[in-house]
Order: sequence, then C-alpha cells, then structure tokens
Amino acid sequence: MATASGTLWVVATPIGNLDDLSARARAVLGGVAAIAAEDTRHTRHLLRHLGLTTPLLALHEHNEAGIIEALLARLGGGEDLALVSDAGTPLISDPGFRLVRAARAAGLRVAPVPGPAALIAALSVAGLPCERFVFEGFLPAKAGARRQRLAELAGEARTLVFYEAPHRLEATLADLAAVFSAERPVALARELTKLHETVISTTLGQLIARVAADADQCRGEIVLIVGGNDVQAAQALAEGRRLYALLRTELAPARSARIAAEFTGAPRRALYVESGTTEAEVPS
Ligand code: SAM
Repeated sequence: MATASGTLWVVATPIGNLDDLSARARAVLGGVAAIAAEDTRHTRHLLRHLGLTTPLLALHEHNEAGIIEALLARLGGGEDLALVSDAGTPLISDPGFRLVRAARAAGLRVAPVPGPAALIAALSVAGLPCERFVFEGFLPAKAGARRQRLAELAGEARTLVFYEAPHRLEATLADLAAVFSAERPVALARELTKLHETVISTTLGQLIARVAADADQCRGEIVLIVGGNDVQAAQALAEGRRLYALLRTELAPARSARIAAEFTGAPRRALYVESGTTEAEVPS
C-alpha cells in the first residue's frame, strides 16, 4: 500500500514578542518530524520557550537548493515537516521560496500556519491607506541602484512598504525625499511588538529632521510605509517626463530637468531616470 505523503507546514513565528505565536503554530511545531529553520540557534530559543524538543535542520539562502531533494523525499515518505524563518512569515524577505515551489511542483501538500509579518503589522498602525499597497522588501544597498528603483516607483499611486536596515535608514530617507518629494507622507515603524516599539507618522522631510536629531530612531528593525503618489502628482510626473525627453534633444540633463520640473510641478530628480540618464550625470 502506498504511503500517504506528509505536509509541509509553513509556520509564521513572532517578530519580537514571543507571545504572538499562535496556539496552532505551537501544535504544528510540536507535532512535525522536523523543523527546517533559517537559523537553528534562533529557533531553538523559540522551541525552548515553548517547551518543545522537535529536531531542527538548517535551511538558509546558501543551502536551500542543496537540501530540497532530501526534504521532498521525507515528505514523500509520509513525514510532516515545518518551515520557519527567524521572524515573521517564511518567504517574506526570507528563505523558503525554492522549497515551497519544489514541494508544490511535486504535488505535495503545502499548508500555511499564518501569523506575524512585519509589513502587515506596520501597515495596520501606520495610518496610511492600505486597501491597496505595494511591498518592495529591501531596496538595493547601492545608492545608484536604489535611486533608480525609487525613480521607477515615483509615480506609484498605492502605498509603498519597504524593509530597511538601520545603518541605511538615513541614506534611504534622503533618497526618498529627493526622488518622491519631502512632503510625501511616511510612517517609520520600528521594533514592533518589542520594548522600544515606535511608530512615527509624518512627512519625509520631517522624518529626516527627526532621525538626525535622535539617533535612537535609526536603531533596531524598521519598516517604512510611504504614501502613494496622488493622481495629480502622478499626472505631473508623466507630463514632466514627456517634457524632459523633448527638452533633452536640445539641452543638457540638468537644464532640461529644471525647466520640465518648473513647468509641470514634478520633482526634478524623478525626471532623469526613465530617459536613460546615468546616475553620474544627475546633479545633486
Ligand atoms: N519574514 C519577516 C516578516 O514576515 O516580516 C521579514 C524578514 S526580513 C529578513 C527582516 C526585516 O523585517 C527587518 O530588517 C525589518 O525591516 C522587518 N522587521 C522584522 N521584525 C520587525 C519588527 N519587530 N519591527 C519592525 N520591522 C521588523
């Protein structure tokens, strides 16, 4: 008789406060044959808190591709497995995508145990529209690539959600203000569910001043929620880019951008990128 295949449970874990782990997550983590964890030391700490001794195996960015076959074989042989990351929902800016894709392709059952995700927690308290939003994860670390990505997003009307590392916060805020405008609404959601939880809802210009005056605002884990471009501003940007492209056939990038920005009200820096101007040519 053929053995029934097992289930791959994708289990969300707390983003700070350990009490946020659901009762179902606890039951699943205690009942599976093994837990594939991004960092076994980190997850061992969680299991100890829950009084569980389920075996752990490492599944991270660098070994995920190499261990998929072994995990599929265990699932195919009837074992239930769980997948967790260090915090929040696996796959969301975390490892696990290749395993989930392979398990689904193999016709195995993959089931979620939903729970914390920093982007949803941040959206739920930011006070910015969240009927529609765009999750961008981490922006590129290099300044040129980051500004390029932001210029591509400058006309986005939906609320934007970014994860950011503390040491890059100031540079990212400066780029956001330069490309989107200092008046754009923003929420900084920091250390959610932890002792130093802080949520600041303001504009990009004011947040830059606040962070410069208080180094604590650069510490810990950070989600940035940025209001979308409203329809009028999106139109100004589209017109600005058309005018910029036209002017560029006769004038230098800086002069073209200045004139196009003045005529349309579009932010000057957001005009360069789509027209193929390289980062080196963009005046500060
Ligand atoms: N899988 C996680 C999730 O579901 O949110 C995200 C993992 S990603 C590697 C880590 C990033 O998530 C952090 O750099 C930060 O941007 C955000 N994050 C995680 N925990 C957070 C918290 N307690 N408060 C604010 N942001 C948090």
